[in-house]
Amino acid sequence: MKSIKLFKEQDADIFFIKDKVVAFIGYGNQGRSQALNMRDHNIKVIIGNIPDLYRKRAQNDGFDTYNISEACQKADVMFLLLPDEIMCDIYQKDIEPNLKVNDVLVFAHGYNIAFELIKPPKEIDVLIIAPRMIGIGVRECFLNKEGYFSFVGIKQDHSENALQILLALAKGVGGLTKGGIETTFRDETVLDLFTEQGFGPASSQMMMKPIQILTEIGIPKEAILIELILSGKMKHTFNNMRDYGVINQMNLLDLRTQYGVLSRGLRYFNVINKILEKQEGILKHIESGKFAIEWEKKISKVKLSIIKFFASRVGFGKLEKKVRKNLNIPEVDLWEEIPYPSLEEIQEKAKITNQLEDFLHYSEF
Ligand code: NDP
Repeated sequence: MKSIKLFKEQDADIFFIKDKVVAFIGYGNQGRSQALNMRDHNIKVIIGNIPDLYRKRAQNDGFDTYNISEACQKADVMFLLLPDEIMCDIYQKDIEPNLKVNDVLVFAHGYNIAFELIKPPKEIDVLIIAPRMIGIGVRECFLNKEGYFSFVGIKQDHSENALQILLALAKGVGGLTKGGIETTFRDETVLDLFTEQGFGPASSQMMMKPIQILTEIGIPKEAILIELILSGKMKHTFNNMRDYGVINQMNLLDLRTQYGVLSRGLRYFNVINKILEKQEGILKHIESGKFAIEWEKKISKVKLSIIKFFASRVGFGKLEKKVRKNLNIPEVDLWEEIPYPSLEEIQEKAKITNQLEDFLHYSEF
């Protein structure tokens, strides 16, 4: 078992970056919050962004803004806070050609380095500072001093000073208040992807499937969805798990509930082994890099749009739309970015037609 290192604010000294120009490349969810936190430590911060609304926002926030390549030329440290999918192209075009010896490249997620989609030159430091917090929370938790956890690590230490620089930068973006856990690009990436692919789908499938048995005994769908999701009860349970611990928070429940939860938990032992087998397969796929290879293929993007198409129109997706309408909850469509595929597009993709049946039943219950 690896022993962990948890770095706190007192382990870091801003002195190590006080003369550096720090560029935040991308001024989106993470970029804006991290840049504002860093500036509050009196560090010279500049923004690299394409000329658009995000850049305007950075200007309105009082930052000097530049095109990405220009920002890289001016800076000593570059936080790459771009969407992971487009990062490689931008890195090759605008960032790598402008890197100087002893520059520092910082990633907020390990994916592109872990799977060698980006291979930085040897003459720079390469660091990871990955907040375990959404962008807006990075700023809020800094301002209210609550702090957030982060994963921090070093891939390349050309300056032979990378640890001090890492800790100073992590403190600058507010990532050491709760603590920065030492990690590697690989571990951060595998954990992140496994949380998405191993935990997420298993729990949502387990939530969707029993709806059928509840409706069969006459419970209205509206009541089921209010109980499961719309009431926000689950959110409270998760918050209690965070605040008090998964087992300890049980003591907040009445005795009948505690008995029901714990005694029936035992009945899932056999079933859970099957799920565990699936999760092991998913984990191997991530670790070996096969998932990254799969996601690079164009066909995966088509597959995604088809699954999303069906998930929103049949089964649980359809039910949710109907229930929300019945309860007068306004619909906000968040799916504009990926256009639904045309029927021809679906038919053309012969390679995946044998999976269409699975897609169709994705959210069935
Ligand atoms: P966003 O989607 O918020 O976008 C970041 C920036 O990228 C924006 O300034 C955007 O500007 C710019 N951008 C988008 N497309 C292009 C393009 N084609 N060319 C140039 N610039 C472009 O990203 P996030 O902040 O969510 O993620 C940044 C990094 O942080 C990622 O590595 C992510 O994995 C990591 N991370 C994210 C977390 C989160 O909660 N979101 C949590 C932890 C890590 P514009 O729109 O103006 O083009």
